[in-house]
Amino acid sequence: MPDKRRLLVTGGAGFIGSHLCERLLEGGSEVLCVDNFYTGSRRNVTHLIANTDFELMRHDVCFPLYVEVNEIFNLACPASPIHYQRDPVQTTKTGVHGAINMLGLAKRVKAKILQASTSEVYGDPTVHPQSEEYWGNVNPIGPRSCYDEGKRCAETLFFDYHRQHKLQIKVARIFNTYGPRMHPDDGRVVSNFILQALRNQDITLYGTGEQTRSFCYVDDLVSGLMALMDTSEAVTGPINIGNPQEFSIRQLAEIVVDLVGSRSAIVHKPLPVDDPRQRQPDIAKATALIGWRPVTDLRSGLTKTIAYFDGLLGHPRQLPHQA
Ligand code: NAD
Ligand code: UDP
Repeated sequence: MPDKRRLLVTGGAGFIGSHLCERLLEGGSEVLCVDNFYTGSRRNVTHLIANTDFELMRHDVCFPLYVEVNEIFNLACPASPIHYQRDPVQTTKTGVHGAINMLGLAKRVKAKILQASTSEVYGDPTVHPQSEEYWGNVNPIGPRSCYDEGKRCAETLFFDYHRQHKLQIKVARIFNTYGPRMHPDDGRVVSNFILQALRNQDITLYGTGEQTRSFCYVDDLVSGLMALMDTSEAVTGPINIGNPQEFSIRQLAEIVVDLVGSRSAIVHKPLPVDDPRQRQPDIAKATALIGWRPVTDLRSGLTKTIAYFDGLLGHPRQLPHQA
C-alpha cells in the first residue's frame, strides 16, 4: 500500500481548520494539527483524537517548526475583528512571521503550501464583484489593518518564495464563511444574530444594514481549499473561494429571525470603523481552474448552524424550519 500523505494544518483547532482536519482524515491522509489555541479550542477536535492518523500539537507559528510533512495548509490566524483587534501586534506577527516560518518549513521539506488568505485583501472595494485582478482599497493604518496588511504581506511572501525558491504555492482568498464551530463570542454577524435570535434578544444591526456580504457554508469552503491544493503545479492562485450569493446584513437578520422563529426586534448600532460596504466574490476563476462552486444555499446552511448553537445553549429543540 502506498504511504499515506502527511498533511499539516496550522490553525487546525479553529472553526475552519477543524472541519478541514476532519475532511482530510476522511480522505485517508495523516493530519498534524498545529495550534496555539488563541481562538481555537481542543474541543473542536476532540472527536478526532482517537483517530491514529490524527496528531494535535500546541505550537505558535510565530516560532519555527521542524516536522516532516508533504503538504501544508496555513490557516493559523485569528479571523474575527474582535479577536484580531484584541492584540493587533500579535495578529500582524502571526500573519507575517507565521507565513515566513511555514514557507521556510515548506522549502526545507519540499512541501506544497496553501495560504488561507482573505477577501479583506480587497479592503473596502471600489470594484464589484471582486475578481482576483483587483488590487484592493485597504487602509494601512486603521484598526483592521493588522489583519488585512498581515494577510497582504503573507501573499507577497508566498509569491516571492514561489519565484525565488520555486515553491509550490496555492493562495485562497476566503470570503465570509459560517457554520458549526464558529466561536460563539467572536462578534461575527452570523454567530451574533443566531445567538441573539435564539435568546430572543435584540438583533444588533450595525449602521443601516444595507452593507452586503456573501456567506459561504463551511463544508463548501473546505471542498474548495482541498480542490485547490490538489491542482497542478501551474495553479498558484490567488483564487477567490466564497459564495457569490450576496445579501444585505438586514436581509440576513430577517432570515435568521424567521428560521429561529424568534421574537427578537432589530435595533441599530453604530457601524464599525472601515466596515466594508459591499463584498461579493467573482468565482469564475475557481470554477474554471478547480471546477469548484458552492452548493449550500444560505437557508440550509443557517439551519444547520442554528441547530449547532442551539445545542451549545443547552436546549436543543426542533426548529420551525427543520425537517
Ligand atoms: P479561527 O479563529 O476559528 O481559527 C484560527 C486558528 O488559528 C485558531 O484555532 C487559533 O487558535 C489559531 N492560531 C491563531 N494564532 C496562532 C498562532 N500564532 N500559532 C498557531 N495557531 C494560531 O478562525 P477561522 O474562521 O477558522 O479562520 C481560519 C483561517 O481562515 C484564518 O487564517 C482566517 O484568516 C482565514 N479566513 C477566515 C474567514 C472566515 O470567514 N472565517 C474569512 C477569510 C479568511
Ligand atoms: N454586523 C452587524 N451586527 C453584528 C455583527 C456584525 O450588523 O452584530 C455587520 C458588520 O458591521 C459587517 C457585517 O455584519 O457589516 C459582517 O461583519 P463580520 O464581523 O461578520 O464580518 P466582516 O466585517 O469581517 O466581513
